[in-house]
Amino acid sequence: MTPAPTIDLERARRETPGTAAVNHLNNAGAALMPRPVLQAVQDHLAREAEIGGYEAADAVEAALETGVYQSIASLINAAPAEVAVIENATRAWDMAFYGVRLQPGDRILTAEAEYSSNVIAFFHQAQRRGAVVETVPSDETGQIDLKALGRALDVKKRKGRVGLVAVTHIPTNGGLVNPAVAIGKLARAAGVPYLLDACQSVGQMPVDVVEIGCDMLSATGRKFLRGPRGTGFLFVRQDFLDSIDPPFLDNHAATWVAPHRYALRPDARRFENWESFIAGKLGLKAAVDYALGWGLEPIHARTCGLAQRMRDGLATIPGARVLDIGREKCGIVSFALKSQPAEAVQQALAAARINVSTSTVFGTRWDMERRGIDKLVRASPHYYNSEEEVDAMVEAVGRL
Ligand SMILES: *Cc1c(COP(=O)(O)O)cnc(C)c1O
Repeated sequence: MTPAPTIDLERARRETPGTAAVNHLNNAGAALMPRPVLQAVQDHLAREAEIGGYEAADAVEAALETGVYQSIASLINAAPAEVAVIENATRAWDMAFYGVRLQPGDRILTAEAEYSSNVIAFFHQAQRRGAVVETVPSDETGQIDLKALGRALDVKKRKGRVGLVAVTHIPTNGGLVNPAVAIGKLARAAGVPYLLDACQSVGQMPVDVVEIGCDMLSATGRKFLRGPRGTGFLFVRQDFLDSIDPPFLDNHAATWVAPHRYALRPDARRFENWESFIAGKLGLKAAVDYALGWGLEPIHARTCGLAQRMRDGLATIPGARVLDIGREKCGIVSFALKSQPAEAVQQALAAARINVSTSTVFGTRWDMERRGIDKLVRASPHYYNSEEEVDAMVEAVGRL
């Protein structure tokens, strides 16, 4: 039997230049890029400056037209033709969501920990299409209540067709992991399209679109995947491509084939647009390859271990309250102090070169209001963080 692979921390840190300068516990915001990602972006920018932007793209055509799609596809167990590279997760999600053919009266089922931009888009589309937004309550552990979701999907018991199940895998404001696979089973059994916001899960844990059974999935480059900012991607299942009416088309998404006719691209790249951050796209490929090189299982195990170490440490501090909910928890830690508001904690830690962030009711209003929380501190370690960094952060919080 081969032993389970573990993370070589010394190498992970050596390959992450930022670890020399900061204790970076804001990987849910934007992770520190590893050297191969930085190199891929810098090399291409230099190439553009030297020989011209179009000419530089031609020189890396294989990576741009094939490689990046193959890499992302292997990361999420998809086919390359099911992947579109889009400038961020929000726009990727929008291209899918705004294209779902909702009819008047269709219900959109979502969860309490849903992300603000998604909820705003639900309401926007509900106004335009006459759809109805329905929030499935959480169970006693804090994750989406699967029994309630099952009931909501049972059209015999409820009025109105369900047009879409759209949920966030891991919310922006804490350690909750929603049961994406179980949700997928219910959505599939009911024959309802399923859109998963996997922005915080891709890069920190194995995410398999076949196992999850989602029709659409969005993710970003800069968070746990450690890619450059301004990058993201969308997955759309092959059989589902034509069920989406793309909200925008251009001469990359489609071809002007006759004076009064265009033809849509056959693959998921119909959701892309022509001009893009080419260096970023190469950086995204490098980030995906780098994550696959470590393996998502060891990344997940180490990240969750560090987060739990942090929660255990914070729990010993009088006046500190750990706020993470859910049956399964991930690498995001959320907490509040009695003595200080969240921004003051963030600033005090920043002064000690410890990067954390804060999360407010404006990001996840339904969840925060239900729990009576206005603001919290969000600390998100990654596999390249050391146990010493986690302990230093806990000690610094203890001194506040
Ligand atoms: C960060 C985040 C987003 C938005 O991703 P962008 O790449 O900034 O568009 C969407 N959903 C969740 C849950 C997030 O945490």
